[in-house]
Order: sequence, then C-alpha cells, then structure tokens
Amino acid sequence: MVQSVSQIEHKDPVHRLPPRRAAAVDHPAAVHLPSLHEEVSAAGPPRLRANRRCGWRYCAGLTARITVRGREAEIIADVDVCVAGGGPAGLGAALAAARQGARVCLLERYGFLGGNFTAASVGTVCGLYVNEGGTFDYVTRGIAQEVADALQSAGSAFGPIPFKETAVLLYVPWAAKRLFDHLVSEQERLTLFLHALVSDVVVAVDSEGDSTLEAVVVATKRGPQAVRARAFVDATGDADLLAFADAPTTIGGPGERQIASMQFVMEHVDVAGVMDAGGLETLASVIAEHGSHLSRDSGAVLPTFRPGEVIGAMTRVRGPDGEALDTTDLAQVTYGELEGRRLAEEAATFLVEHMPGFAEAFLADTAPVLGVRETRRAVGEYVLTGSDVAEQARFDDAIAAGAWPQEYHVRGRSTEYHFLPPGGYYQVPLRSLRPLRLRNVWVAGRCVSADHHALASLRVMGPSMALGQAAGTAAVLMACCDRDDAEGVRASLVEQGAYLG
Ligand SMILES: Cc1cc2nc3c(=O)[nH]c(=O)nc-3n(C[C@H](O)[C@H](O)[C@H](O)COP(=O)(O)OP(=O)(O)OC[C@H]3O[C@@H](n4cnc5c(N)ncnc54)[C@H](O)[C@@H]3O)c2cc1C
Repeated sequence: MVQSVSQIEHKDPVHRLPPRRAAAVDHPAAVHLPSLHEEVSAAGPPRLRANRRCGWRYCAGLTARITVRGREAEIIADVDVCVAGGGPAGLGAALAAARQGARVCLLERYGFLGGNFTAASVGTVCGLYVNEGGTFDYVTRGIAQEVADALQSAGSAFGPIPFKETAVLLYVPWAAKRLFDHLVSEQERLTLFLHALVSDVVVAVDSEGDSTLEAVVVATKRGPQAVRARAFVDATGDADLLAFADAPTTIGGPGERQIASMQFVMEHVDVAGVMDAGGLETLASVIAEHGSHLSRDSGAVLPTFRPGEVIGAMTRVRGPDGEALDTTDLAQVTYGELEGRRLAEEAATFLVEHMPGFAEAFLADTAPVLGVRETRRAVGEYVLTGSDVAEQARFDDAIAAGAWPQEYHVRGRSTEYHFLPPGGYYQVPLRSLRPLRLRNVWVAGRCVSADHHALASLRVMGPSMALGQAAGTAAVLMACCDRDDAEGVRASLVEQGAYLG
C-alpha cells in the first residue's frame, strides 16, 4: 500500500529525526546562526560540531544498504574523447583535443566552467612563471599562457605580481568564467554539457584484467544518460572516473592531506589605503595582535583591480577533529560549506574591525563553493614524489614543467612554502597521467599520480592546465591512431606551443 509522506515521516525511523537530535541542544548552529547584524557574544559565534553517532553533523548515521536497480541510459554523445570535469585541467584537455580535430564531449557538474578558478574564486593563477634571477618567464606555456594572456589583454588579470620568491597572476573570476565560455564555444567539434555530474562508468574487462572504459554515466534531471568515447580524461579533481572503475586511487590520511578553504569577496575596500598601510605584512601583524581566534594566521587579501574589491584568502576549513575534510563524503562536504561560510564571515568582520582600509568595507559574498585542494588521486604508472619536485627531476617522457613551491595548508594555522632555487623547475612524466589497469584513460590536474608532497606544488592552476593539455593530446592519439607512446604526445605538445622543460 502506498504511504503518504506524513505516514512515512511518522512510521519510518529512517526518515525521522529522533526528538533528542531535533532539539539539537548540543549543536547550537543547527537551530541558530547569528545574522549579519546581530551582536556576536564575547565567546564568538556558535561552532558546528560533529554528530556523536557518525562523526559528522550532517550525517544520518545509518549503515543500511539498498540495491539500486540496473537501468538503460540514453547515449547523449558518442565521441573520440570525453573529458570529465571542466576545471583548469579539464579545460586544457578538452581544448587541446578539439583543436586537434577530435570530437570531444566535456562534462561539468556545475553551471559554469573553471573549477577552483571560478567556483572557488581562488584569485591568483600560480605556477605560470619561473624566477630567472628576479625576472619572470612562463614555465607553463601553451593553453595556460593563452588563458593568462587573454585575461590580461581584457584588463581582467595582472601579472607577474611578485609573491615571496615567485610570482602570480591576479585575475577577476567573473572574467575567467566568460573567457572559458568563449573558448569552448569557438570549438565546433566540442560538445559541452553543464549540470552533468558523472556518477558511474561502463567498463569492459579483458582476459588479463585490464579494463577499457566504454562510457561514462551522467546523473541528470531525466535520470542517467551516457557518453560513449574512444578515450577519456579524468579531470574531476577527485579521480571520480578511476574510483567508479575500481582503478587504484589513494587519499592522504591525517596530516597528509591539504585543508580546504572558503574564499570570500569584499567590496568598498580602500585598496590604496590597504597598500599604503603595508599590505600583507600589516595583515599578518594585525592578525598576530588581534586574530588568535581566526582559522589562519596569515592568508591574503587579493585585489581584483575592480574598484574597491578584494578576494579574501583567510580561512582554513577543518573537520571537527581538526583534520582535513574528505569532501568526497556528503556529510563532510556539507559540514565544510557551512563552516567555510562561518569562517569567511568571521574573517571579514575581523578585517572591518582591525585592518586599515576596511573600515567602510562589507562582505559581498563567499565563493560559490568550498575550495578543495586535495582528495582522492590516481595511482599511476609513475607516482611523482616530493623529492622529484625538490631535486628538479627530469624524465624522458616529460610532458610539462612546474616551478611553483611546495605549498602546504596542512599544519597549524600557517602556510608552509618550500621554494625551488631561482630558475629551478621539475618535469612531469606522461606516466603520471596514466592510471594503472585502465587502457584508454588519462588523468590530469590535482588528481594525477603524485604523492602529497609533489602535489603540494603540482596542484596549482598553471600546471593543472598544462597537464590537461597533455592528457587531452594523449587521448587524441589513442582515439585516432591507437597510439600511447610518449614521443607522439611530446611532439604534438611542442607543436601546440607547450613547454616541456
Ligand atoms: C582555496 C584554494 C585556493 C587556491 N589558491 C590557488 C591560487 O591562488 N592559485 C592557483 O593556481 N591555484 C590555487 N589553488 C589550487 C587550484 O585551484 C587547484 O588545485 C586547481 O584548480 C586544480 O585544477 P583541476 O582542474 O585539477 O581541479 P578543479 O579545479 O577542482 O576542477 C575540477 C572540475 O571537475 C568538476 N567535477 C568534479 N567531479 C565531477 C564529476 N563527477 N562530474 C562532472 N564534473 C565534475 C568540478 O565541478 C570542477 O569544475 C587553490 C585551491 C584552493 C582550494
């Protein structure tokens, strides 16, 4: 017999919060968050806490399982190369593949492209430059340089801006969003699907246990739909395709995984006043003096060069246990989004109260989503290591070069940097883009086959675009010619203007 919703709610404990938890006396944030205009008590705003039953506040704490029925899925695209994830890596891959004449399908779960570039409003592109004794030259050329140049010539980015021993490109996230719209729209052979969350894969396994990906399944409002391709790029940042295909992946444990952050935008800032007062050095000393309650002891306010606007990079969003969240888990990522907005509001209030130039400023918004630095990544034919980065490794099958320092958001409230010497760079081998046991898949961006210490450098957006360009190029060679040799990929990348070191 069909039950009404109210019957279900009253009879089925699965759908009902026990009265004790609904009252949430030990979770004040569940019933009350301070409003923008409300006085926050001397003890500070209420903190979200872990649910005692499952460890996470937004977790039903259930362990039961249910069988999901097998269903047919309509094939919405049948292409040469399918790229999952439209962040810096996925964009690099899709553009490179389409420009070489392949029929490409790019799948992105949000309503816009860019990944952390736009969705997390990170505010600077790192890893573009190598320090040549005080002057800066591009170390990631190709599509990464093209994006940087296009943003700069539109007046929406400025660089290289010296930062510690290296340099960055400051940019406007909105401009990047529109640039990516244009870049993909220019490619006639590229089919873009937004709001397309890849939720499963279809795999054929041969007698030796090697798998070939036949299709990816996309969760849509019309149920599951599929994209079939000859070759695939996993640029999801979380190695989703690999995980769905049961290919080897790994994720760092406590202390071995970067902590997430929630960026935020402030308007009506006296940016010149901030600079005159000493900029980031003053920010660090103001935090040292008044900001022991903040989640981060330094961070930055990044001018977008639009009047009175800065991006705040001043939060560190940990789990209730103080460790990095695993944002592939729904309960943890939900916790992170709410906690991130709380920390952003706390940091913005602090800036208004204590930082010169912010007296008239206001918090305009947080980034669209929590910024995630590190989760699951591939275990590939080669695992790039922290020593490879520090010792500037060279590889015969190099497909990109990186020069960004190892940048850790892991311990305490500070950010730790380990710089390469001036002019120093390392190479990345094609084998780090090749997952084990999957014949026709390449991986790119922050889920490549690298250890935590190599990823601390390689994960930033300049190299991510370069790795994407290499993965897209390798996927084309596989799709068109059944080739997976490094020489072909390297020759094509050089022709495309990429720098391999
Ligand atoms: C707070 C923060 C600050 C940072 N600051 C900087 C900085 O200043 N400069 C810099 O260069 N780098 C910075 N980084 C690092 C950098 O942003 C990322 O490492 C980089 O964006 C990685 O690119 P990616 O394409 O591999 O992954 P992402 O940028 O994470 O993109 C992955 C894309 O895949 C999509 N996706 C994921 N899963 C699926 C799925 N199943 N189906 C469909 N689509 C999917 C996502 O929506 C996203 O668009 C920062 C990161 C964070 C979190």
